Amino acid sequence: MSATNDIWVFVEHEKGEPKKVSLELATKAKELADALGGSAAAVALGPGAGACAKKVGLYGAGTVFVSEDEQLASYSITPQAQVLADLIGERQPRVVLFPATPAAKDIAAQASARIGAGVLTNSIDVSIKDGAVASTAPAFGGSIEVTSTVAGDVPQFILVRPNALLPQQVGGDAQVVAIGAGVKEDSLLAKVVDVVVEAGAEAPLEEAAIIVSGGRGVGGPENFKVLEDLAKELGGVVGASRAAVDAGWISYPHQVGQTGKTVKPNLYIACGISGAIQHKVGMQTSKVIVAINKNGDAPIFEFADLGIVGDVFEVVPKLTEEIRKRKQMT
Ligand SMILES: Cc1cc2nc3c(=O)[nH]c(=O)nc-3n(C[C@H](O)[C@H](O)[C@H](O)COP(=O)(O)OP(=O)(O)OC[C@H]3O[C@@H](n4cnc5c(N)ncnc54)[C@H](O)[C@@H]3O)c2cc1C
Repeated sequence: MSATNDIWVFVEHEKGEPKKVSLELATKAKELADALGGSAAAVALGPGAGACAKKVGLYGAGTVFVSEDEQLASYSITPQAQVLADLIGERQPRVVLFPATPAAKDIAAQASARIGAGVLTNSIDVSIKDGAVASTAPAFGGSIEVTSTVAGDVPQFILVRPNALLPQQVGGDAQVVAIGAGVKEDSLLAKVVDVVVEAGAEAPLEEAAIIVSGGRGVGGPENFKVLEDLAKELGGVVGASRAAVDAGWISYPHQVGQTGKTVKPNLYIACGISGAIQHKVGMQTSKVIVAINKNGDAPIFEFADLGIVGDVFEVVPKLTEEIRKRKQMT
């Protein structure tokens, strides 16, 4: 039973630096809490959690609940879910916004089972509808949007896709509250013994300012090297369409689109990508979209800011070379 109109954010962070999505959610939490007459708060767990408070507060959370317990380190899903569920039980927020990221999804799933929360996933917007907090999510390949609310008086978890909302500095100094509840013995039955980061997956697409993305037109796994060279010169990272991922040319963490990641870089260079709606929904809010495609009628040219009709293997190396030259001149 949710006794308050408070809106919380589960903060995902990297050693004390909140991920951009956490700031997007903090801004939304403040907007919703202000509209409902409640408070916006955030929960940050694990080593470095305290360091998140300043930034998360600046972006909207009035209070940040913090535990620096080592047992709550990054991928310790069950201990984090338990501590979060205990805190929700104690403080009764109405809604908890989670980043729709792999770790936070796991934590939301376990925490919701513990307290019987209603869960809405894949959200691209959160709003108030007839006094209820409503989540909007794409459906049928992005061709329609569905707005849902949770029925019944239970805590609500809404999992929001990174880059769907706008982070804004609408807050101030957050009050930091140390979490009393600790990790229980039976939450420690599984332990993280090693973390292996896949080569190329270190730089998260969702946070990247420049993305060079390849599709079926790239033609094979070895050809992604051409895109990597350009990305490196620009200080960006490599993304991909689902066709390239399904072909096994590049791994899933690189996929942009409806069933991949939503990205919002300053510059998105789509190479050999046709611009199907399922790809478009994942990158259409990029600031500048450049498309390189040998088919002048490809749909991507309908929404690209700049289009180059040409072969990826002629255009991309020339671009890389030109950028290299200009960098040497400066
Ligand atoms: C439920 C569902 C979810 C989906 N989710 C996603 C998703 O998350 N992300 C996603 O990307 N797709 C997704 N898709 C797939 C999507 O519908 C498209 O099939 C996919 O995006 C096509 O990828 P592509 O543009 O690389 O390939 P294609 O559509 O085959 O396009 C290849 C393009 O490359 C061009 N080309 C070929 N050779 C060259 C060359 N040498 N130089 C320049 N251009 C060249 C061609 O002209 C063509 O335009 C989903 C589909 C469904 C049904």
